[in-house]
Formats: sequence, C-alpha cells, structure tokens
Amino acid sequence: MSHIVIVGAGIVGLSVARAAIKRGHQATILERGPAPNPHSASFDLHRMIRYHYGSFGGYTRMVTPAFDAWDRVWADLGTEHFENTGAVAISLLPNDYGQKTLDAFREVGQEHEVHDRSALEELCPHLQLPADAWGVTGGRGGPLFASRIVTELTDWVRKHGVDLRHNCAVKSVDRTRGIATLEDGSEISGDLLVVAAGAWISRLLPDSYGDGPTFRQGLCYVEPPADYVESWRNSPAIVAIGDHGGYTLPDRRGAGLKFGHGAHRRLAKPEEDGFGSDLETEGAIVLGAFKPYLKQAEAYRALRIQVGYYQMDSSRRFRVESEGRGLVVTNCDGQMFKFGPLLGERIMAMFAGEQSAADLERWAAGY
Ligand SMILES: Cc1cc2nc3c(=O)[nH]c(=O)nc-3n(C[C@H](O)[C@H](O)[C@H](O)COP(=O)(O)OP(=O)(O)OC[C@H]3O[C@@H](n4cnc5c(N)ncnc54)[C@H](O)[C@@H]3O)c2cc1C
Repeated sequence: MSHIVIVGAGIVGLSVARAAIKRGHQATILERGPAPNPHSASFDLHRMIRYHYGSFGGYTRMVTPAFDAWDRVWADLGTEHFENTGAVAISLLPNDYGQKTLDAFREVGQEHEVHDRSALEELCPHLQLPADAWGVTGGRGGPLFASRIVTELTDWVRKHGVDLRHNCAVKSVDRTRGIATLEDGSEISGDLLVVAAGAWISRLLPDSYGDGPTFRQGLCYVEPPADYVESWRNSPAIVAIGDHGGYTLPDRRGAGLKFGHGAHRRLAKPEEDGFGSDLETEGAIVLGAFKPYLKQAEAYRALRIQVGYYQMDSSRRFRVESEGRGLVVTNCDGQMFKFGPLLGERIMAMFAGEQSAADLERWAAGY
C-alpha cells in the first residue's frame, strides 16, 4: 500500500483520491478552504461535457473514455449527475469553432449531425440567426451537475478512508521528495504527491508556475422571457456561436439557465480580486454579448454571477508534469471538469507503472 498525498479538493484532487482508494492505497487530501470549496473552479451548479473541441481532435477522442469514467463514478455514488441534452456548435463564419469541430469530427470519426438554419431554429427556437448559419451536434453532451458531484465525492472519499483535511493550507511543496509543508511547519510525505491547486498554483509554486496566466471568469445565471423558458430547458447546450465565444447550459434539475462568454474572462488572481460581482454591470456585459442572437433579447434578466478562476496559457492544453515523486496538474482552462475522473484514474495507472509519465503528459496535452 502506498500513500498518495493530494493538494486541493477540487474535481482533480477528489478524483485522484478516489482512484487511489480503488487501487488499495491510502490517500490524504489537503484543502486550504472548506471541502468542497465553493470558490474552487469545480464548484458551480453545472459544467459542460461535450465532444466539440474545435480543431483539438485529441480532446474529442478523450470524451468517450471520460464518459466511461463518469459511469464508474455514478456506480460509486449511486446516482447519475448528468443530463444528456446534447450539445451544438453554431457556425456563422468560415473556419470558426463550429467548422473546426466538424472537420475534427470527420477526422477522428466522431458520429455527428449537421443542421441547417431551419433545423437549428427547431432545436433552439429562442435564437435568431443569420441565413447562412448551420450547426453541428455529435454524441452525448450536456450538464454535469458539478457542485452535487464534488459534494458527494467528498463524502464518498471520506467514507472510504481518505484523510481529507479542510482548512489545511499547504505552504510549500518539495515535489522531488513528495513532501507537503503546512502553515504550521509540519510535513506530510507521500510516495506520490499530486498538486491539483487550480488557480492558486502560482502562489504555491511561484518559481515554476508563477508566470502561468490566471483568469477570472463570470458566468451569468439568466431568466429568459416566459415564451422561451421551455425551449431553453429542452434545447441542447450551446458550445459556441460563430467566433463569439458564447456558450449556454440548459436549466435542468433546477440548476438554472447559464450563459458564459469566453471574451469576458480577464487576467486576475483569486486572492487579489476575490469572488464578488456587480450583478447589474456584469450581467449586462454577458447578456449584451448574446443579444444579437436572442429573440426578445430585452426580456432576459441576469439573476446571479458565478465567479471562477482558472489557469490557461496560449497552448490551451492541460499540463500534467512529473518530477521525482511529485506530479502537478495545471492549465486546466475552462475545460477540466469533464475529464477529472478520467485523469484521476490515469494518474493512478501511471503510478502503477501501466503508463509512463511522459505518455501521461502527452495524453493530457491532447496529442
Ligand atoms: C467559469 C468556469 C467555467 C468552466 N466551465 C467548464 C465546463 O463547462 N466544462 C468543463 O469540463 N470544465 C469547465 N471549467 C473548468 C473546470 O471547472 C476546472 O478545470 C476544474 O474544475 C479544475 O479542477 P481542479 O481540481 O484542478 O481545481 P479546483 O476545482 O479549483 O480545486 C483546487 C483546490 O485546491 C485548493 N488549494 C489551492 N491551493 C492550495 C494550497 N496551497 N493548499 C491546500 N489547498 C489548496 C483550492 O482551495 C481548491 O479547492 C470551468 C471553469 C470555470 C472557472
């Protein structure tokens, strides 16, 4: 039996702990806040899973194994926290996200369906789109009910013997030797030390990751006009509209309708900018970005902003970096939730010698 020490109780840390327990190891999670931490990137009512990935066909290929990993999580939790609403990328321009996704689907052999504008209007009657708009759906997709998942996974790992210490900030780590040092100076060592510290990595490992870009993003929960409440609920998640960067998650299981706008993210650190938001201002920005595509656009109301932070560099690829006994997971972008359980299993497979660290790094980078 080995001891796996994990920094961070987000979806990555919890998934590593679960996979460690399944392989008969002992696991300790060190979490600076409460567990789960409502300020972690993993904590929101929903996060999207979908095959669409623009030109990154490697990540499209990872989605079927990711769904398989989720099925194993549902079996453990005894509940499926996912709704298969489908997902659609809407193309408005040559070579935009929808077009790149379609090309990648064809290249990797992902089953899909192309919808012309009138078919899109049937799928999403609340949208108004230019005459030459078209869309692509493919495979399962939709909301993973994230905060319920991390809450239940937290209970599951605790029940299965994981030593999960909340309000337990790690001050520094010695990756090579697999040692985490706490604020009080005490040390905890593991045969494997996994750092899954999300947007706080630059503070924990300033020498190696201090320059990694950290972004704040505010997602907007929305009340649609009465005429479109049902159509929004029953339509697929929207992955992209042209190159606009807009995405939506439907209101299922009481989670609410949520709009996000990629371009709204900005460089910022959670410890400096915090989690507050001026609803009127930020809601108007996010809703404003969608207005050209919404029927009855003026009748939408911003209800709440959910603020989250993530690391994202220009490669847009996950980084899983191994050094001695330490493994760092970073650059998770606005994308890692869907892959969390799969990554946890892969990390423990690497630890068991079933895959090299170099292969794990390459796989996580989507090659
Ligand atoms: C606005 C937004 C939208 C997103 N949308 C999607 C989506 O639709 N689909 C998708 O798949 N992904 C999405 N993501 C990405 C996904 O949520 C994240 O990539 C994923 O949750 C990262 O998980 P994590 O465990 O690495 O980090 P986190 O969930 O952030 O957890 C890190 C934990 O580490 C703890 N920690 C940090 N430093 C220390 C320390 N020194 N000592 C102890 N504990 C520490 C933190 O308190 C935190 O709880 C989105 C992210 C955001 C922010």
